[in-house]
Amino acid sequence: MKNYAVAIDGPSGAGKSTLARAVAQELQFVYVDTGAIYRTVGYRVWQTGTVLKEEAVAEILPGLEIALAYDGQGLQRMQVNGEDVTEKIRLPEVSMYASHVAAMPAVRSFLLEMQRDMARRSSVVMDGRDIGTVVLPDADVKVFLTASAEERAKRRFRELKQRGTPQDYGVLLVEIEERDYNDSHRSAAPMRPAKGAVLLDTTELTFEESRQRLLEIIRERIAL
Ligand code: C5P
Repeated sequence: MKNYAVAIDGPSGAGKSTLARAVAQELQFVYVDTGAIYRTVGYRVWQTGTVLKEEAVAEILPGLEIALAYDGQGLQRMQVNGEDVTEKIRLPEVSMYASHVAAMPAVRSFLLEMQRDMARRSSVVMDGRDIGTVVLPDADVKVFLTASAEERAKRRFRELKQRGTPQDYGVLLVEIEERDYNDSHRSAAPMRPAKGAVLLDTTELTFEESRQRLLEIIRERIAL
């Protein structure tokens, strides 16, 4: 049976992971959050006190045993050298390390084959920044999911407030704009819509509307 690949790229905070997970569940495809894989490398670099320089980071890569596992709800859990780091990789320090290591070509090529291998094994919905451009250029469906920076900052603001860890809206907006800039201006696999990608702007859409639209885009291209 043919394995299908759906590549979803776009900036931080556009709702990629929640939407990608929801459609993967609906289609019964495996959901792969590639940001979590970069975060796992970032975590290990941070935890081992490795200098944030490509040569130093490249030295620890061969010793990393990264594994993905799925819990009962289809949530992706990350392990590195036997340690479950699913929650730890969301720490703000780790986000910063992840964004630095993600700009290193040595890290990107180390993770490339791992991501492609997952798509060879099963039908996947894979989300990231360079899935349609670099990792799976032959994906059956490519989507570039975005929303205005203001809307993404608003969503993050609401989410943090709900979690009881509020942050200033202005600070969140600046952080989002900085990350967008870094992700799209780095020389290694910069974030940009892939050739043939469908642009989905969720600024004016609710979660349910975005989910429906995404499913439509996929079903128009894959006969399931
Ligand atoms: O999506 P998330 O915020 O979890 O990604 C963590 C970091 O990994 C980000 O800084 C992003 O630039 C990087 N990343 C990447 N390529 C991917 C997925 C994430 O460079 N395919």
